[in-house]
Amino acid sequence: MEKYFDFYPKRVPKELTLPETTLIENLEISSRRYPDKTALNYYGKRISYRELYSEVLSLAGYLQANDVKKGDRILLYMQNSPQWIISFYAIARAGAVVIPINPMNTSEELAFYVSDCEIKTAIVSQELFENVRALIDKSTIEHVVVGTYSDYIDSETNLNLPQEVCALRQELPPEYTPWHEALSARYSPIAVDASADDLVVMPYTSGTTGTPKGCMHTHKTVQANIITVGVWQSVTSESVHLLTLPLFHVTGMLHSCHGPLSGGCEIVIMTRWDRELARILIERNGVTHWTNISTMLIDFLANPNLIKDSLKTLEVIGGGGAPLPEAVGEKLYNLAGIRYAEGYGLSETIAHTHFNPPDRPKLQCLGIPSPNTQSKIIDPLTLQELGPNQEGEIVVRGPQVFKGYYKRPEENVNAFITIEGKTFLRTGDIAKYDDEGYYFIVDRIKRMINASGFKVWPTEVESKLYNHPAVQQACVVGVPDERKGEQVKAFIVLNEENKGKVTEQEIIDWSKTQLAAYKYPRVIEFRDKLPTTSSGKLLWRKLQEEERNKLVAG
Ligand code: AMP
Repeated sequence: MEKYFDFYPKRVPKELTLPETTLIENLEISSRRYPDKTALNYYGKRISYRELYSEVLSLAGYLQANDVKKGDRILLYMQNSPQWIISFYAIARAGAVVIPINPMNTSEELAFYVSDCEIKTAIVSQELFENVRALIDKSTIEHVVVGTYSDYIDSETNLNLPQEVCALRQELPPEYTPWHEALSARYSPIAVDASADDLVVMPYTSGTTGTPKGCMHTHKTVQANIITVGVWQSVTSESVHLLTLPLFHVTGMLHSCHGPLSGGCEIVIMTRWDRELARILIERNGVTHWTNISTMLIDFLANPNLIKDSLKTLEVIGGGGAPLPEAVGEKLYNLAGIRYAEGYGLSETIAHTHFNPPDRPKLQCLGIPSPNTQSKIIDPLTLQELGPNQEGEIVVRGPQVFKGYYKRPEENVNAFITIEGKTFLRTGDIAKYDDEGYYFIVDRIKRMINASGFKVWPTEVESKLYNHPAVQQACVVGVPDERKGEQVKAFIVLNEENKGKVTEQEIIDWSKTQLAAYKYPRVIEFRDKLPTTSSGKLLWRKLQEEERNKLVAG
């Protein structure tokens, strides 16, 4: 199935040569080429490539002086900020591995990642510090560096900034290191025997099964997608990228951070989404590239202050993680004359494996395989390859595919499949491609809920619900939601003692205290019993279908 090559943007070869450099070498090259150019623009405060690289080296030296060794896993738990980016590269420079965690995770959720990776050092932001502090005596964590966003804010700023960004530095207990102290002593890093094949980052995902696991990515797998996104989106050193997606997730990390920094671009950082602030930042800074997610774009386009000129500098706008409603794509086109270019990928592929060509995108479409990437549709049961317009599982092969899940040998066997002697990653997504080779997602085999691009794993939510004293049985499914795509619903059987005594709202309120904000169930339905197989296995798909049918009927 090679038809899609007819639609490759003319300037994009289907095979691209990949460099053998590490990410830290990329940054060093950018800092030599563009020392005085703005690398990071944090609400008006500009940090040049020279300054960025110097901060990275200082923090790397500090980490090494505090016993961080090659291969150590370091927790990075903060919102989008200059500190997140400096920390990522400093950890990489020390030869260690970044464990980027969603700042919405609670202390309990964090405990899992810390124990899974045996984390000794954590870099966290001030507003999340208490979550890490709660783990100190109960986990492997020994050393915590605490950053304050306002350390990188220009006091002259006239922008209406989020609260946590303005918060001034707080006193810390003596055993924690404030960010400015970690950097102030001006440590020099020592050389590390580094190679592009070393692990550099492990984003967590649940993959096709329910338990979170780290995706092992090397400099090379990340590099593979840095190159393709750069060429595909015509990125030049003059490009200005707006960073609004969270950096802990692969799309934001790759498209709005590592890609731009390797190209010598400017990154306009937003810590928290705010449509009016986004409009001002796009207009003020002449943003050319913006990767986002559908809910963000819907909100952005609803801003009454938005005018045609607001988007006049934009060249490429697109996103992934969840489909964009067709009407929103049209609204964008009418306003800015640009087609939204959607992409598709997974944590296992450090963002994209498929892209829409910006000059010939289709709406609600995953696009065509990106350079160096092969993709097929297979029957998930017989594993036979299928043809155009036939629905089956997407499998992919390319240099961006990860090296497997950290410490999960069994799951690694199931993650891959061999077709004609070549190894492909099984995505757990059901899709088809049309006669022109464009892919469209249809359903999922894996048990996952996609709420505005945030991935929720029903088994994780269920296991929390079972901790509630009134819950006898729980089944969590995704139900269609106009704005978020899907939202989390839990079917619950109460135990005899609590029937009629506990309300749905009480369960929701309790769940809020146990789970990150995007995970807790928004809807609860009590049932007398749940559908199960004869062996007692929950028939979650049946309940999910019931919900989807309700929407069709309604
Ligand atoms: P994650 O590992 O969090 O990036 O989640 C990957 C999953 O997100 C994929 O396996 C898909 O189920 C979903 N996904 C990614 N891109 C899209 C898209 N453009 N449309 C719909 N779902 C998507």
